Amino acid sequence: MENIFCSIITIGDELLIGQTIDTNSAWIAQQLNPIGVQVKRRVAVGDNKEDIINALNEEQNHAKIILLTGGLGTTNDDLTKPILCDYFGSTLVMNEAVLQHVTSFFKRRKRPMLAINNNQALVPNNCEVLFNEVGTAPGLLFEKDDTLIIALPGVPFEMQYLVSTHVLSKISKKYRRPTFIHRTLITAGEGESFVANRLIDFERTLPENIKLAYLPKLGMLKLRLTGTEISETDIEQHFSELKNILANIFVADQDIELEEQIGILLKEKNKTLSVAESCTGGNIAAKITSIKGSSLYFKGGIVPYSIESKQNLLNVNEHTIESTSVVSEATALEMAQNCLQKFNTDYAIAITGYLEKNDHDNQIWIALANKNFCTAKMITVPYDREKNTVLTVNSALNLLRLFILENP
Ligand code: ATP
Ligand code: MG
Repeated sequence: MENIFCSIITIGDELLIGQTIDTNSAWIAQQLNPIGVQVKRRVAVGDNKEDIINALNEEQNHAKIILLTGGLGTTNDDLTKPILCDYFGSTLVMNEAVLQHVTSFFKRRKRPMLAINNNQALVPNNCEVLFNEVGTAPGLLFEKDDTLIIALPGVPFEMQYLVSTHVLSKISKKYRRPTFIHRTLITAGEGESFVANRLIDFERTLPENIKLAYLPKLGMLKLRLTGTEISETDIEQHFSELKNILANIFVADQDIELEEQIGILLKEKNKTLSVAESCTGGNIAAKITSIKGSSLYFKGGIVPYSIESKQNLLNVNEHTIESTSVVSEATALEMAQNCLQKFNTDYAIAITGYLEKNDHDNQIWIALANKNFCTAKMITVPYDREKNTVLTVNSALNLLRLFILENP
């Protein structure tokens, strides 16, 4: 079956000068992929008439579906609507439903409505108006034979609302598409090239219509199998084979973050957690609390960044620090045990380490404790401060996950 291609044109000077990072096209691609639409190209252009028109013309050589985001507002730098009007020979007409919505939108927020805001309700007479419940600029959908050109607001949550409620269903109805099935395996503790080496035979035996993608993150690796026009059973068979080969580094057989898995485990077992983070400065606690419902199992954390606070807040023994140093197995273990006691939790994790190279190696000690047992592991982190933080957090979360599984 023929592939359906989409091009995404993101509009705005802020995208070109690097003030705003284009997250819109990544999000859109993630939504289109599962419905069998492939993003062929992504183009970013400034708030400039000629560039926008050139992009519109060019992208129709590559794709049937053209999605534009940005520049739909009513300020002077917002050019998308007038340009599309020119392009499709439209006249602007007042859309009463949109006008009513915009008026009540401002009223509800108790904000004065300016004359310029009325302009949001002026829409081209030859397009389908995509009603925007969560903002004021409606989406504009132009249909020309087999081509769809859809303009969406730049504000990410407004764009997301319109794609979810209008755009996906429109595309699904209009085009016959191949079906894709994705299966994701998450692994941790082994680098991409090592894993690839172990999968040489597996990849060789994969049929044409199944592709394997490597999506590395610091300390973790996602592997995604994508099958085109394939049955669930067929892809499942290859996916289980993949899981078997990588059983020793298996983390999850679905696309789910470590902190979410930890939450599921703790809730299931009705256990609680606390953290003591020196070098990661609260990043682990931030991850844990990013999960809805984490108050059910997370009791709290301490960031004892200095030696003094390790002693005063966490009762780490002065002699331990003096005799073994502040980044050591013994210090990390004491931090974890004392954290467990202070917060009276079932599990505690503690981190102490050097994120940057100084006269020490970039060593990080990660300790885990429950009421019967504690253990610590040392990792070395080879990157810059920012990446080392992510690597440490991911490694710590995975060690915590394993510790909970092994020490119920
Ligand atoms: P508005 O009605 O708010 O004027 P608009 O359609 O004119 O909406 P823009 O003014 O282009 O949209 O952008 C609105 C906001 O959305 C800006 O803060 C911008 O940084 C952000 N934004 C625009 N394009 C993108 C993008 N591709 N990815 C992420 N954010 C974006
Ligand atoms: Mg704007």
